[in-house]
Amino acid sequence: MTDQKPLLQLIHVQQLYTSGRRQFVAVQDVNLTINEGEFVALLGPSGCGKSTLLRIITGLRRPSEGRVLYRGIPLEGVNPYATIVFQTFALFPWLTVQENVELALRARGVPAEERKPRALDLIDRVGLDGFETAYPRELSGGMRQKVGFARAMAVEPELLCLDEPFSALDVLSAESLRGELLELWLSGKIPTRAILMVTHNIEEAILMADRLIIMDKDPGRIVAEMPIALFHPRQRKSPEFQDLVDQVYALLAGQTQPEPIELGSAPGEPGRTRALPQITINDLAGFLEYLNEQPNYRADIFHLPEDLGVDSDHILRLTETAELLGFATIEKGDIQLTPLGETFAQASILARKEIFATRIRRLPLMRWLLNLLRRAEENTLDWEVVRTALELEFPPDEAERQLDILIDWGRYAELLAYDDNRGLLTLEPASVPERAM
Ligand code: ADP
Ligand code: MG
Repeated sequence: MTDQKPLLQLIHVQQLYTSGRRQFVAVQDVNLTINEGEFVALLGPSGCGKSTLLRIITGLRRPSEGRVLYRGIPLEGVNPYATIVFQTFALFPWLTVQENVELALRARGVPAEERKPRALDLIDRVGLDGFETAYPRELSGGMRQKVGFARAMAVEPELLCLDEPFSALDVLSAESLRGELLELWLSGKIPTRAILMVTHNIEEAILMADRLIIMDKDPGRIVAEMPIALFHPRQRKSPEFQDLVDQVYALLAGQTQPEPIELGSAPGEPGRTRALPQITINDLAGFLEYLNEQPNYRADIFHLPEDLGVDSDHILRLTETAELLGFATIEKGDIQLTPLGETFAQASILARKEIFATRIRRLPLMRWLLNLLRRAEENTLDWEVVRTALELEFPPDEAERQLDILIDWGRYAELLAYDDNRGLLTLEPASVPERAM
């Protein structure tokens, strides 16, 4: 739907902030154009200035330097044509769904008699029909975020800015809300002319956007742009999609990534099946948080056993896991977080799950298990059956350990469920069919 008419332009935008007595460059020389008809996603590690750029674009902040043009005209004050939806949209708890939306219409100067029908229509369009008189506390997180969208739509923004709009939601609500937003956008049912979405979720960006802008930090700046020329509905599991995920991942990991990590192959495929390191998600998360607190996110592996109070064998498995999943790189005896590792360490629990899911779905052994479950009756398999299958690849006790890790990681990522009493593994609904979005 792109017709290449610039809606918004940032020209040599720079933002300085003061921290204590020092000034630092939060955003350096950003040049960015958003055209009419475009859905643009902004990706980058936390602290690279994404929220700052949104505030500049919506006129909530004036940049230290540079120009902001809206339809070619310099922006003065708050941009009346743009709205931001935040990660957690604040609703007035004492107002019903309908009243919350009507309030946004009133703020926009819509006459009283028009507010009710407009609010009801918006509530209907975001899929909250039947909840008009509910209060925010009666709604799930996903439903509350829908009210947030309805309120943002009430403003009928030409430019809709979204700051990590799905990251506070559980995996399924996030996915259904993404689908609904895409549907509204692609069908042209809303007057919005362009969308700019900040996200740290690579798959989400590729699923929704026409173009990705990739930032890095210290100082915050744009390092790459990438068009996404896939038709909707996009298939997450298609090779084209996965290729793009890999490319973006490589861009985010930047030059710090040395040679590609040897992932090994899956059982039944030619090549060596790589065993997963015996590391639980708890240990891994704790380790990444530790690295996140070190100067330059870097530590000397040699000192880690003493600093963390665990044996060196455990440290080696930790560093191997972090590297295997792309959360850290190892070089000359040092381990350092990648931007993805930093993002993970700083993310909310739900956001972590999504990042982790993206990473482990690439592992041949996990892929193999998920495929096995996908083909199984009711997507369920007996623990014993899977272990026996793994014994074709590994010695018996190693097969069992591998299965424990697959379950630990897969459960955390919400890719699979495990019923301990009955010893049954089941594919989670979110990873069952090829979802059309
Ligand atoms: P992101 O949204 O990409 O995580 P932000 O735009 O929030 O990044 O912040 C970019 C950098 O600027 C961070 O280092 C942050 O701590 C700093 N920062 C953000 N807002 C302010 C502010 N009002 N004053 C001082 N520093 C700020
Ligand atoms: Mg932010």
